[in-house]
Amino acid sequence: MQDLSAVQSDLQCRNCAGQCVYDPSQQALVCSSCATRYGLETDRDADAATEFEFDPDAPEADPIETTQTRVHHCETCGGDVVFVGQTLSERCAYCDGPVVLATSDTGYQTKALIPFRVPDRDAQRAALDWVAGRWAAPSSLTSVVSGARVAGLYVPFWTFDSEEAVNYWAKYKVRRNKRTVTRSTSGALRIRFDDLLVPASPHVTPLIRDGILHDFDPRRLRPYRPGYLAGFGAERHHQSVAEGLDANAEDKDLLIRNRIKGHVRKSGVHDIRYTTGTSGIRYRRILLPVWILHYQYDGTPMKVVVCGMQGRTFGERPFSWIKLAGYAALLSALTIGFGLAWGAGGLL
Ligand SMILES: [Zn+2]
Ligand SMILES: [Zn+2]
Repeated sequence: MQDLSAVQSDLQCRNCAGQCVYDPSQQALVCSSCATRYGLETDRDADAATEFEFDPDAPEADPIETTQTRVHHCETCGGDVVFVGQTLSERCAYCDGPVVLATSDTGYQTKALIPFRVPDRDAQRAALDWVAGRWAAPSSLTSVVSGARVAGLYVPFWTFDSEEAVNYWAKYKVRRNKRTVTRSTSGALRIRFDDLLVPASPHVTPLIRDGILHDFDPRRLRPYRPGYLAGFGAERHHQSVAEGLDANAEDKDLLIRNRIKGHVRKSGVHDIRYTTGTSGIRYRRILLPVWILHYQYDGTPMKVVVCGMQGRTFGERPFSWIKLAGYAALLSALTIGFGLAWGAGGLL
């Protein structure tokens, strides 16, 4: 068992010694007892978007051994707060006080985050509205979901920049005398990637990244401060930069292939092969805010996610097969109707 130091005194109200949590609607740390507001602005806010250069010759190892149970003794009530796995922020089970790990115990340093802007009640409404707006959903769905609550979580992400010097070979198709013939081509291009957003955790599903977090505005980043995490769950960064780059390899390959297709500017481009010389890799280790609502339908776990920055919502949902069959029947009836009208029109 490993003892942890955590930030607690900073999260305590200087007025009444109550517990403070981060309030998205006030953009500040607010005391749960007396409502005193503590701003988290710093003189360094403008530096939060700073990127770091990747040095492949300086490999890093995860500075934290997380197979151990990590325990913090609550300064308020003396209870044990257990940090499981990659958890960075917790609430004390005994006094409900927020506990955020001290920077010395977080391993890789998260330098910046985008704070929650969407408050709990708006996220809850957005999740329920999303469910209520689904077509062909089972009628019982809304009542099943209304019992579930959203939970706020900061999830770890990378942003990557790089410059790629690409040489490529490809084939394309042309029409010659009513025949399609295949031609070969080759070329070179330079690509500059800016702020590719890459999940830094296996828990970040495509639903979260592509559904709600595809816009990223570095101007909204703030320097990492435990106060922003108070009252929210958070996962720490636990990948080396090289691991992050590996996680991005597949997406980057797809983007490069699309750019090559655009560069060839012919139809039927296929058989693309390329080499790329990558330079100027820069990265950020950041946290992004997400509301998640978990629910079960017919024993299947599903979730609705709401972006903590601007409320974009996306989710998993069951279909009513009866309603779907009804829609399909209606659709084919319409198509037949349209076809008949079209045919009749043609006869006139
Ligand atoms: Zn207070
Ligand atoms: Zn406690």
